[in-house]
Amino acid sequence: MSDAFLEKPIDYLKGVGPNRAQLLRSELGIHTYKDMLCVFPNRYIDRTRFYKIGELAQSQADVQIIGQITHIETINTGKHKRLVATFEDETGQIELVWFRGVKWIQKNLKTHTDYVAFGRLNWFGKKCSIAHPELDHEIDSKKQGLFQPIYPSTEKLASRGISNRIIRQIISSLFDEVNFSFSETLSEEIMNHHSLIDRSTALRAIHFPTHQNELAQAQYRLKFEELFYIQLQILRRKQHLKNKFKGLVFDKVGSYFNEFYQQHLPFALTNAQKRVIKEIRTDMGSKAQMNRLLQGDVGSGKTIVALLTMLIALDNNYQATLVAPTEILAQQHFSSLSSLLSPLDINVDLLTGSTPQAKRKEIHENLANGKLHVLIGTHAVFEPTVIFNNLGLAIIDEQHKFGVAQRAKLWKKNTIPPHVLVMTATPIPRTLAMTMYGDLDLSIIDELPPGRKPITTAHRTDRNRLAVQRFIREEIHKGRQVYIVYPLIEESQSMDYKDLMDGYESIVRDFPQPDFQVSIVHGKMKPEAKAFEMKRFVDGHTHIMVATTVIEVGVNVPNASVMIVESAERFGLSQLHQLRGRVGRGADKSYCVLITKDKLSADANTRINAMVKSQDGFELAEVDLKLRGPGNLMGTQQSGVLQMIIADLTKDASILENARKAVLSLLHKDPNINSKVNSAITSTLLQLERGKGIWKYIS
Ligand code: ADP
Ligand code: MG
Repeated sequence: MSDAFLEKPIDYLKGVGPNRAQLLRSELGIHTYKDMLCVFPNRYIDRTRFYKIGELAQSQADVQIIGQITHIETINTGKHKRLVATFEDETGQIELVWFRGVKWIQKNLKTHTDYVAFGRLNWFGKKCSIAHPELDHEIDSKKQGLFQPIYPSTEKLASRGISNRIIRQIISSLFDEVNFSFSETLSEEIMNHHSLIDRSTALRAIHFPTHQNELAQAQYRLKFEELFYIQLQILRRKQHLKNKFKGLVFDKVGSYFNEFYQQHLPFALTNAQKRVIKEIRTDMGSKAQMNRLLQGDVGSGKTIVALLTMLIALDNNYQATLVAPTEILAQQHFSSLSSLLSPLDINVDLLTGSTPQAKRKEIHENLANGKLHVLIGTHAVFEPTVIFNNLGLAIIDEQHKFGVAQRAKLWKKNTIPPHVLVMTATPIPRTLAMTMYGDLDLSIIDELPPGRKPITTAHRTDRNRLAVQRFIREEIHKGRQVYIVYPLIEESQSMDYKDLMDGYESIVRDFPQPDFQVSIVHGKMKPEAKAFEMKRFVDGHTHIMVATTVIEVGVNVPNASVMIVESAERFGLSQLHQLRGRVGRGADKSYCVLITKDKLSADANTRINAMVKSQDGFELAEVDLKLRGPGNLMGTQQSGVLQMIIADLTKDASILENARKAVLSLLHKDPNINSKVNSAITSTLLQLERGKGIWKYIS
């Protein structure tokens, strides 16, 4: 099978022709033979199973039934004609309906003779019908296959006569043209080691399976192949970066680090924190640039890791920067890091969108002349006017809020790119991390600091409002502070805003001054006003903080022990987990109350129940992945690599692990992939690089 063959326009394939080609292009994006080869069945129907009409339940399943046509009539509705046949077996009757080709079909239908009718059930009340059924006199297992594949389709395709059967025929002619033989893409060693069937067998079996086992082997092989090539490309890029960019060598651990570690650490580090710091030190001491993702649940103590990492950079006479996604968070980092660093002779400053011009100028100067050691800030740090004397380390907090392009901007801030540590409190399921951030090394803090009390999470509905209020009052009397969070979703901003303000007013009514003080923070406020309100709450001058999700990330008020989330069903799982992470930061027992309406959708129910049951961010991330799928979980701008053709990251974790292992072992044995035994892989990679591979992977 040559490149040229695969690039042939689909019009040339037997049974396609210009009209169908146009439809396949516009509806399914199929332009070439190659595209057609990438169309895999969504599911399979077991054609060994026959149904009795009496046992059809109210489902929309595809079924096949043996019976006879007892009555045929055409019904005229205005312009359109419809053909309706009554189809019976000994247990009942259904209707078969045709909207197209009525004349021809009517001529060919026979009553009182056995048919196998096959198609999707439609229910109108208690009446059931199948539109455009496949009708055969007997089951022809050669023609149908026992596991009949069902291909992706659209309404337009179906209405223009490109049925599932036609797609099957088209694929069948494609296979005929190549004599059912496709070139192999994996090495013999990998196929043997992972017990994979060969590619031609797999492709045939995925379209024309004869039994379940064969189908399973074919799916495994093709999923493995897809994941293998994604991983190969990611890991090759990583290898390439390691070779291309020399890293700054931070081999010294000097007085800043040692003094702080020995005299000023505010607490003993957890084992996980120690392990991660060791990983980072080793990385920065090697000759390659560090590109490391640090995952740790909310409150797991990433800040101190960031600080110690900065001290290593400073010990080696380089500057460091820490970038956070919001102004509030940047400010908070600035104040906690400045106070931690105050015993040492280190200059720290803060640069955000609202830094006044004069101050900004001063920062620019001190960065350029090297007087400023550590810069903390927001997106403002990315700007080209921000020039460092010698930036050696860039740390990005809550990295999922930033794009890859922004990460790249930091790279350019030094001739030899700085070491990069990205931190996230939104745990990413392993399969996703390996795909989205496969070119990063991974460190995980999987242990919370000692003495944390679990947060009690409860689900309440509007009906329990009075009890919730009573509870809030009790907690405030004990000296605690409370968050009450309202959703603010882009599309319905004005309504949400109204909910927030209404909520605020009723809270002020229910918790009147002077006994109770209430703060409010939301996105429409001026930064100074926000900061002022935030500070009142942080300093303990107000009891209740009414807010939108602006307080989602990072904010640290140890005395706040109650998190109330209004309309909790409207929040995503990771958002809820982030919000809950705002409490449980001090010595007191903490609570999270999720308030919802009475009736919840199945998804919302799963989310709320998961929150009540689990406090483990990684566990919740897995639930979220199953609910929302990889693309949605990661946000659309990053979902390119996640659009797989046959593999599914929510289900194929173990195949991914195996594929990645195969890649690592390949790169270990044959780093340039030019050994003769790997020639199939070499040429597949070449095709992928030219955009001509069978898989439409990352570029
Ligand atoms: P996050 O990982 O969410 O950024 P932080 O770094 O803000 O977490 O840490 C959360 C809280 O836990 C902070 O108040 C911090 O001082 C405290 N903390 C961090 N590490 C430890 C530790 N090893 N022992 C005790 N407290 C710790
Ligand atoms: Mg943090």
